[in-house]
Amino acid sequence: MLAVEALKIRYGEVEAVRRVDLSVGGGEIIALVGANGAGKSSTLGAIAGLVAPAAGRIVFDGTDITGKPPETISRRGVSLVPEGRRIFASLSVAENLRLGGAMHLAAPEAKAREQEMLDLFPILRRYHRIKGGNLSGGEQQMLAIARALMAKPRLILLDEPSLGLAPRMIDTVFDLIAGLRRNGLTVLLVEQNVALALEIADRATVLANGEAVLAGTAKELATSDLVRQAYLGA
Ligand code: ATP
Repeated sequence: MLAVEALKIRYGEVEAVRRVDLSVGGGEIIALVGANGAGKSSTLGAIAGLVAPAAGRIVFDGTDITGKPPETISRRGVSLVPEGRRIFASLSVAENLRLGGAMHLAAPEAKAREQEMLDLFPILRRYHRIKGGNLSGGEQQMLAIARALMAKPRLILLDEPSLGLAPRMIDTVFDLIAGLRRNGLTVLLVEQNVALALEIADRATVLANGEAVLAGTAKELATSDLVRQAYLGA
């Protein structure tokens, strides 16, 4: 479904991503893991069209989307849930959801999709009229995911969904991600919590200093010495 080939990203003099190759098959959960600053968010940003690659190619469903604007990429079926959730604090849960569907769906379809999201996330139904800023971190993460799903993506890019959440909330969010995949969604997950990512993913790629240094099945990586020593505290 997605292929990232020899991706390079520069911010001025800073080479944030030197070389990343990555593939995501339909229905898979692929994890992208690595330390702070390894280039994970930049990679997601390039796939979503928010960051222009300096070199390399990104192909989604057989179409080259490298450097295309974010609206085009999201219209093709890719939604990003950004790091830090970025929900609109002063807008209600309902308004946040509607913004997620506004670009793509006609009014009746958006309404129906909103109801589907409220069925999927009962907590958002309960807080429908509450301002986004008044939700807890975990509830905001649910809202950010639901907002991204409003556009009916086939591929969802999740940037650090566990960040800053209480352990119980992390379990809830990860159960939800597993449930989305069971319903046919394809997931590219960026996580600093490597143990957690490897529990849910089919395959994973390790980034270090802007380079993909290791890739394999989640099982292979969970037992690799490098991953155990560098990321799992073994
Ligand atoms: P984190 O979890 O901290 O976001 P990451 O693995 O997602 O880490 P990136 O955010 O992609 O890494 O950052 C990769 C490198 O690029 C870092 O050195 C970072 O400081 C740098 N960088 C990221 N965004 C910018 C920017 N807009 N301008 C300049 N440098 C940037």
